[in-house]
Amino acid sequence: MSPELRQQVRERAGGRCEYCRLPDWVELAGPFHVEHVVARQHRGTDVLSNLAWACSRCNRHKGTNLSGVDPDSDEVVTLFNPRRERWEEHFEIVGAIIRGRSPAGRVTAWLLQMNAERRVELRSELIGQGLWQA
Ligand SMILES: [Zn+2]
Repeated sequence: MSPELRQQVRERAGGRCEYCRLPDWVELAGPFHVEHVVARQHRGTDVLSNLAWACSRCNRHKGTNLSGVDPDSDEVVTLFNPRRERWEEHFEIVGAIIRGRSPAGRVTAWLLQMNAERRVELRSELIGQGLWQA
């Protein structure tokens, strides 16, 4: 992947993870990745419309998954797609917890472990400093 394409993906996302909205410029954010919304394994390609800017934790937990099991209904649900859907429609922030507002939001927050203890602690700190916003 070219540095130009990587830069385009980053700029479109405003430098924030398109799943958990972690800003990439803060301390402890760790490396960010260009993530395939539809993984190569499922014929996803390196086109802008299939790429998202993701923190290493979201990227790692998402892996090649396209769906997950909704913790509330036990139904198989397609994951949130940052290219086709709006974050605000699927997630909300409650304190420092990212809560799913839809089945896709719930399953994505759960699968990507957005509310793992350390991540909530970091988010809470960033919210306090005005560095994280939904
Ligand atoms: Zn993330």
